[in-house]
Amino acid sequence: MLVRRNLFIPSKVRYVRGDKPDVPCILCGIVERSELVQSLEIFRSPLFCVSANLYPYSPGHLLLFPIRHFEDVRDMSEAEAAELFHLQNVALEILDHLYSPGGYNIGYNLGRCGGNSIAHLHLHIVPRFRNELGFADIIGNGRIIVDDPVVSLPRLRELFASQTRVPASS
Ligand SMILES: [Zn+2]
Repeated sequence: MLVRRNLFIPSKVRYVRGDKPDVPCILCGIVERSELVQSLEIFRSPLFCVSANLYPYSPGHLLLFPIRHFEDVRDMSEAEAAELFHLQNVALEILDHLYSPGGYNIGYNLGRCGGNSIAHLHLHIVPRFRNELGFADIIGNGRIIVDDPVVSLPRLRELFASQTRVPASS
């Protein structure tokens, strides 16, 4: 008898590293709800979008990016900065609640040499955990993925919708 084995299926949605959609800007593609872009949008305010990262560095890795396309952090308006600051703090509350990480890295990767692959400005919020896997664990066949952004999206969406004081935009 043939036994069919399902090995590892990270999610129902297929995504492949390096398989970039054919749009001028992937984040504008999310803003415009392009069918070519897989959106992991969680929340949208008048000036910002909150999204899970398609390729998370760790569980709960979020991206906060302006609706308006600009690339230099110095081009952010005061209204955008205020909204971003609020959303960042809401994100930290929600991530504390859902994942209880031991810490965070928050920041921008600016320019190619800064590790940036998407020009549209975006703030990374990366929860950090005490027992994170290192490269040696992964090649040594340890546990691999502990969270799938597609699975955690509904809960994140619900919490953002209930906890931000910035109105959601459609
Ligand atoms: Zn853009």
